[in-house]
This record gives sequence, C-alpha cells and structure tokens, in this order.
Amino acid sequence: MISVNDARTQLLALVRQLEAETVPLADAAGRVLAQDVVARRDQPPFSASAMDGYAVNAAEVERHAMFKVIGEAAAGHGFQGRVGAGQAVRIFTGAPVPDGASFVVIQEDVSRTGDLITIEPGANSNIRPRGGDFLAGQTVSSPRLLTAADIALLAAMNIPSVPVTRRPEVALISTGDELVMPGDTPEADQIIVSNTFGLKAMLDGLGARARILPIARDTRSALRTAFELAEGADLVVTIGGASVGDHDLVADVAADLGLQRSFYKVAMRPGKPLMAGRMNAAVMVGLPGNPVSAMVCGQVFLAPMIRAMLGLSTTEPEFQTARLAKALPANGPREHYMRAQLDAEGVQAFDNQDSSLLTVLAKANALLVRPPHDPARSVGEMVRYLPI
Ligand code: AMP
Ligand code: MG
Repeated sequence: MISVNDARTQLLALVRQLEAETVPLADAAGRVLAQDVVARRDQPPFSASAMDGYAVNAAEVERHAMFKVIGEAAAGHGFQGRVGAGQAVRIFTGAPVPDGASFVVIQEDVSRTGDLITIEPGANSNIRPRGGDFLAGQTVSSPRLLTAADIALLAAMNIPSVPVTRRPEVALISTGDELVMPGDTPEADQIIVSNTFGLKAMLDGLGARARILPIARDTRSALRTAFELAEGADLVVTIGGASVGDHDLVADVAADLGLQRSFYKVAMRPGKPLMAGRMNAAVMVGLPGNPVSAMVCGQVFLAPMIRAMLGLSTTEPEFQTARLAKALPANGPREHYMRAQLDAEGVQAFDNQDSSLLTVLAKANALLVRPPHDPARSVGEMVRYLPI
C-alpha cells in the first residue's frame, strides 16, 4: 500500500500535456491557453474621451473660460480638424480626442448659448490615453484557464481564434451486475449507477471530455468489450470490481489487455483499492465502486491528472486550513478525507462517514484531510481541508 502523495506522483508521471488545437474565440471559454498570445493593436487605439462634453486645450481650462464650438466628435466619427485657441469640439464618450485638445469638460460643467460655451471645470481631464488598457505586442501568457474576462480581453486584442490544449478524452466504465442506468427499470436486487454521472460532471467541469460507456457486467468478456469501446481515450477509468471478491475482475482483465500496473491500493479512506498504470496508448485508473470513494478519488487523483494533461500546474490540490469546529478522535493508519461542512464557525466533519452515502457528500462543501495516525484534535485547532 502506498501513500496518497506517492500515488499522486506516480499518476502524474503517467500523463503528459496534450497537443494544442486552434478554436474560435467564442468557443474558448474554459479552455487552457496553450501558447502566449500577442495583442495586435493598442487599446484604446487613440486618446479617447471618457465622458460626454467638450474637448478643449488643457492650458486654457479655468473657471468661466469661454470657447467657441467648431464641430463634433462622436464614437466612430472623429473630428478631422484641429482645435485652436479659444475653440472647443462637442465630444461624446469613446470618440477620439481631436488634435489640439487635451481636456474634456463634462457637459454638466458647461453652459451653452448658441456656439458659445462657458465652463466650470472639474480637475479630471476625462481622457483615456492611447494604449492605456494595453499596447500592441503585450502578451496573455500560457498556460491559462480562459475566463469570460480573458475572452473579452482577447477579443479587444483582435484575436479571432486561440491555441488551446486539446481536451483530454476520458472513458468512464461502470462495472457490476447490480447496476442499471438512470431512467431504466431496476430489478429488486439492482441499484442505479451514479458514479459515472458524478465523475463525468466533475471531469467535464475541469476541462475534460468524458464519455459514459455502457455498464460492464461482472464477466471477463463484458469487461473486455468495455475496454475495447474505450479505445481512443487518453484516460480510461473503471469503477468498481477492483477489490479481491469473486466478482472483482478488473485487475485480471486489465492485465490480460496489457496494463503495466504502477500501483494497487493506496493508504486512504475512502478509496483503498485503487489501481493505475499504462494500458497501450492510454492511462488506466481503476477506482473503487462505493459512490463516495469514487468521487473523492476523482477529486484527489483524477483532477490533478486532467490538469496535467491540460498543461496547468499540478502542485498539490489547493489544500486550505480552517479552525476545527467539532472535536475529532485519533485517525488510523490511512489518510482520511472526511466529508465536512465549512462555515463561519470553522470546519466540522459529518458524523456518518460511510463511503456509500451520497446525501452526505452532496451536503459537504469540504473534505477535511486527516494525515495517517493524526492524534485526536480538539475544537479550535487548525486543520487542512480540500474545498469541493
Ligand atoms: P465494488 O467495488 O464493485 O465491489 O462496488 C462497491 C460498492 O459500490 C457496491 O455496493 C456497488 O454496488 C457500488 N457501486 C459500484 N459501482 C457503482 C457505480 N458505478 N455507481 C453506483 N454504485 C456503484
Ligand atoms: Mg462490483
């Protein structure tokens, strides 16, 4: 049995960053930028008015100064002439500031009679300087998970399509004679498959493209077929059938199909039976079947693998610390990821930690992490947790 950290290191050693592809900017949100991108222009590309008002020469700005209005500058319709002494140009937000002008008196500070204005100016020039947002040549650096704000910035930089890392293809295989798909009619001794759906939601959210394969029955041939259907995936994830029971055939069948196993069994709760290795062109991870174990292993192991394939940093998952809000007994020899609730009082583990309880997992917003052999902890001590 190996530690959680060793398992994570070995899993990360099995994957590498996938190649880049180019996608239209409108489809790039949530993708990972694969190469630095360079702005193609200055923004704004000219000194622009930030307000509606009158553009004048700053040297002439003083209380009660008078100007003659000689023209107009609107967004998309610049004023072509030059603003001379004693002259003003009516200007609107987003319009280029005309030559000769260096100050915009906002319209609230102006009284106008015919072509003449008198000003009561404030201190602000109300001009956005050319390149004040960004300059041509400025880069957006990779790797970077593109947010909505990034997409807006790239659009302003005149970048119509972007290089992003290909999404990792994940095949999810549930195994078990007792399982049926949601919406099907189960026999009296059957349950509804849940893990593949939870894992697909998790992995897609991380930027992968997960495929739920048909459920594999607990026979060698059904498992073999499932692995065949998984062809082409970067990561093949099986769920269940990984213990040592009579019906747990995943390890055998995977070995027959060429799995070079890196490890089997990790010192953690929930989730001890966990196997992984290289399987032909893909990486295979066998998760335990208990629903909470599968989801916790997804958070702790699959998430960093997906990040690595996308080229994002793979430092430890973002562990945080919080004040313990309810005392805990000593932990056993395995690292324990306890379903917990984090609020203003601190973090507190739920009483029932059975690894089959999805209602408890759904209530949890944190996994409280107990190191192996962690002594009993009292209220107020600082403990580590993983936000979920
Ligand atoms: P196993 O590892 O196959 O012995 O499964 C352990 C427990 O998890 C059993 O109670 C299974 O019925 C349950 N289980 C296995 N796979 C799934 C799945 N994909 N969805 C929901 N429960 C599952
Ligand atoms: Mg099973």
